[in-house]
Amino acid sequence: MEKRQELYAGKAKSVFATDDPDRLILHFRDDTSAFDGERMESLERKGKVNNRFNAFIMNKLEEVGIPTHFEGLLSDNECMVKNMDMLPVECVVRNIAAGGLVKRLGVEEGSELNPPTFELFLKNDALHDPMINESLAETFGWATPEQLAEMKALTFRVNEVLKQLFADGNLLLVDYKLEFGLFQGQIVLGDEFSPDGCRLWDAETREKLDKDRFRQGLGGVIEAYEEVGKRIGVDFG
Ligand code: 5GP
Repeated sequence: MEKRQELYAGKAKSVFATDDPDRLILHFRDDTSAFDGERMESLERKGKVNNRFNAFIMNKLEEVGIPTHFEGLLSDNECMVKNMDMLPVECVVRNIAAGGLVKRLGVEEGSELNPPTFELFLKNDALHDPMINESLAETFGWATPEQLAEMKALTFRVNEVLKQLFADGNLLLVDYKLEFGLFQGQIVLGDEFSPDGCRLWDAETREKLDKDRFRQGLGGVIEAYEEVGKRIGVDFG
């Protein structure tokens, strides 16, 4: 596989073409951002840690039959993925109230959500990823009702698998965001899964071990990601 030109640079990853039109290379940079890119910082080891963390999770999801974009690790900072048509919709599942839900509804942070909630957001930094629903997604052509149903089912299956995986490491999977795309007509998980896009708390102390450490200026961001990885068995090389 030959790496070709850079196609796109996101806030934390860059995407490269390859000589295979169906395959892309993702390069995980050390950059980290918050508040729709308003705050940016470079954190040592972040690219490598998230790349290896993501590879571990994608393999776990593939093992239970969840289709993902992940094709394999290429190096410390790179992996190969399927070239997909991404849908501009973010799916969020929450097991415990935190973040946006607390702000929006005034519920107490840390309350258990039973059953877990499912929310949709439009992927649009300029509009600050506004909350949407199935009706808006259908009308504006962001996703069809069938695609939305499939995304919702897959997002909840991911919850079952990962809630248990993290629980085995004495961690609470508080919430997470997933994005999907189309590959050969099929809905496929097309997102990285790392502590950048989910909330993880120590099950006993409820210490935050995810990107909220960066958002809230708590420090020790990458150390926390490495601690989470160590607890669930990620090989950081
Ligand atoms: P909230 O709606 O509480 O801000 O986010 C819910 C969950 O989805 C959190 O785990 C958060 O990290 C993740 N999330 C929501 N939007 C984004 C986003 O645009 N980028 C990333 N990396 N994570 C997001």
